[in-house]
Amino acid sequence: MADSIYRAPKGTRDILWPDSARWRALVEAFADVVGAAGYTQVVPPMFEHVEVFRRLGDATDVVAKEMYEFLDKGGRSIALRPEQTASVVRVFAEHRPVVPWKVWYTGPNFRYERAQKGRFRQFDQVGVEALGPDDPHLDAEVIALAWRFYERLGLRQVTLLLNSLGNPDDRSRYVDALTAHFSADADALSEESRTTLATNPLRVLDSRRPEDADLVAAAPEMLDFLSDDAAVHFARVRGALDALGIPYTVSPRLVRGLDYYLRTTFEFVAEALDAAQDAVGGGGRYDRLAEEMGAPPTPGVGFALGVDRTLLACDAEGVFDAPATVIDVFVVDTCGGDEAVLLTDEVRRAGMRVDRAWDDRSMKAQMKAADRSGAAIALIVGEDERSSGTVTVRDLRGDAGQQAVPRAELIETLQTRLP
Ligand code: AMP
Repeated sequence: MADSIYRAPKGTRDILWPDSARWRALVEAFADVVGAAGYTQVVPPMFEHVEVFRRLGDATDVVAKEMYEFLDKGGRSIALRPEQTASVVRVFAEHRPVVPWKVWYTGPNFRYERAQKGRFRQFDQVGVEALGPDDPHLDAEVIALAWRFYERLGLRQVTLLLNSLGNPDDRSRYVDALTAHFSADADALSEESRTTLATNPLRVLDSRRPEDADLVAAAPEMLDFLSDDAAVHFARVRGALDALGIPYTVSPRLVRGLDYYLRTTFEFVAEALDAAQDAVGGGGRYDRLAEEMGAPPTPGVGFALGVDRTLLACDAEGVFDAPATVIDVFVVDTCGGDEAVLLTDEVRRAGMRVDRAWDDRSMKAQMKAADRSGAAIALIVGEDERSSGTVTVRDLRGDAGQQAVPRAELIETLQTRLP
């Protein structure tokens, strides 16, 4: 069905309060967790020259089928970013910051996907990238940050899947072995997997089609193809996670959707969600990407977590509720509104959240609005208050009643009465 003009386009959605408040709280919690580890925020543009994303691999669905590409009015080939690692590495290659360069980001990505629950054409992620060190402890730090972030949200049913895709040579030996394995029995594969085999043999491992299940189960495992140094790196990552008490499952078939991963790769799965949308985040090492974008050879590791999916997982576990209130204080002015203009400004400047009624409504209508606002306290100014230089402070939720407070003592009174 064609999109109706005055509705959000297919695969997008509007986020209103209270979801928007919860969304912001999630990003703030993330900024807190990664900020405490020395990661600084980077804000790349939402579109790049299309070549930046070609680095993700022409055979990946994200690039070949799902990218929003267009020629701008100056004739440049532009793509809306389908993910942010490539953008961040482009930032690194362009600015050459001192390493280790540890950054975090948040914002929307765009993929022309089949829209469904938890799968959007515009979706947000939070993520980190750390460039410079080759140290397996950095892989462990990055993974641990995601883990601590989930803990901070209150999520308890997240599984960490871990794999190593080895060095480039290991990976190509493995791809050859996989190709041989699947080609020997290609007739038994689904048609889709036969196509995938020709372009991107690793991705055949991702097939969920029943007719592929036996061949996928019998496929060689990446971990048997690791060179010594890749195996040592992987063992040290695991050792650090063990020491931190972060549980993981080694998952030899985990290949992930993007082509740039080498060595450590990981994914977070929310057990409380249905299989179609249970991947809440993932990442890994991409030690060649910076070099491919013209920087000196610089290893890198990072992850991206889907904001929408993470919030769905929070719903499913009943954690990380939206903040309950929007404002603390509501001003009711029955003298024509001038006092409301001054009071709202004064109390806001003292750091409290304040709203008021509009359009000179009756006292009764204004009190109704005060109740609806969720504020804990109403400030009422009528003729009596105005002539005596006071404000009536009324408790809207508890049983503290009301009191007339001299204007000069108002802020102090509010500060003691608000939690
Ligand atoms: P990726 O960049 O493909 O590695 O995805 C990282 C995370 O982003 C996934 O685990 C999902 O949580 C989220 N994600 C990816 N694609 C979508 C989408 N189309 N809609 C919503 N979330 C997505």
